[in-house]
Amino acid sequence: MSRDPVADLRRIAFLLERANEATYRVRAFRSAATTLAALPTAELTERARTGTLTELTGVGDVTARCVVESLAGEEPVYLRRLAATEGTDLDAAATDLRTALRGDCHTHSDWSDGGSPIEEMALAAVELGHEYLVLTDHSPRLKVARGLTADRLRRQLDHVAQLNDALPEGFRVLTGIEVDILADGSLDQSEELLARLDVVVGSVHSGLNDDRARMTRRMLTAVANPHLDILGHCTGRMVSSRPAGVKGPGDRAHRPRTRAESDFDADAVFAACAEHGKAVEINSRPERQDPPKRLIRRALEAGCVFAVNTDAHAPGQLDWQRFGCERAARCGVTADRVVNTRSADELIAWARSHGDT
Ligand SMILES: [Zn+2]
Ligand SMILES: [Zn+2]
Repeated sequence: MSRDPVADLRRIAFLLERANEATYRVRAFRSAATTLAALPTAELTERARTGTLTELTGVGDVTARCVVESLAGEEPVYLRRLAATEGTDLDAAATDLRTALRGDCHTHSDWSDGGSPIEEMALAAVELGHEYLVLTDHSPRLKVARGLTADRLRRQLDHVAQLNDALPEGFRVLTGIEVDILADGSLDQSEELLARLDVVVGSVHSGLNDDRARMTRRMLTAVANPHLDILGHCTGRMVSSRPAGVKGPGDRAHRPRTRAESDFDADAVFAACAEHGKAVEINSRPERQDPPKRLIRRALEAGCVFAVNTDAHAPGQLDWQRFGCERAARCGVTADRVVNTRSADELIAWARSHGDT
């Protein structure tokens, strides 16, 4: 029994609007629905059969696939992903998720390109009610961000150990790194140090325009590395200029900076994350919003866990987690799928389970 493809497309548009998706994406489904509604049924089925739906104005590959699935009697995959949040109060879900977070797994200090000492980041995290903060300064290859050499990282580990003695009871700074995923998928720090750290975030910061096959291979290699725990801002996209007053290395003041998503086989990468038990980061930075919601939904369906992180470079930015929570909630991500809703000890045990000893 076939479904009504026009009704399915309209339903998708409605759910996209509800999830506050980009207008152009909503419009794609609405205009395809309008075009197809005007078409005789016989022509619609014939075009679906011969793969010529995309010859029609306003019908693209994605909408055409939905129509074919509908006519075959299946709920379109696209609709199924969106329908996961149907009937939930998205604002309440976002608040619940934020409340459930007990720490932040991606933060920077002035040891790399952050603006403040570790102490100040830690005190701000205490104020926010966090139980822990994972310090993830950059790795050596990212020179522009003053990435830490092995020696400096060793010194940082000593410093953090001392600092933890002085911090309030019930809170601690966990050790970590945002390690560059190099061109061949290896990680930019020594085995010995990566094994010592509590949590390892791995991110691509160079060669973001690698072709699809190369980028996929690179990410799969990194995800399979037992030291990597969290895949950071996986598409590398920049959706807007930095928020006012937030500067990074080499930035000219308020210059708009956007960047397209890197091209990779997201389903393969998310399947690998699920297989190896690695978390996909939901990066809360307003200019990143990475991964985009359609990819969060795919990662969720692939069975991945997530980490909702701020990637804070200053204390006030530690409060940006709510942006990530809003996006996560709109995709149906619940607290049980988010690793930083766990206690520090549980988080460390989870990270260790990937092969670090
Ligand atoms: Zn990064
Ligand atoms: Zn970062």
